[in-house]
Amino acid sequence: MNEAFVQLVCPECLKDWEADPTGLPSPDASFSCPDCGEDRRLSEFMRTDRDLEVLRELTD
Ligand SMILES: [Zn+2]
Repeated sequence: MNEAFVQLVCPECLKDWEADPTGLPSPDASFSCPDCGEDRRLSEFMRTDRDLEVLRELTD
């Protein structure tokens, strides 16, 4: 149903959620966990390589 969505997981608090990648910044942009505020590159929040690939395809 939400095939275009990507799965994210916070490397710090392990919160997981999904998001529309068209609303996300590029994989190398810094991103803050909405739960614990951990600040890392967005690529580090991608749950799987597939999610990272989808993100790369839809962002510049
Ligand atoms: Zn977190």
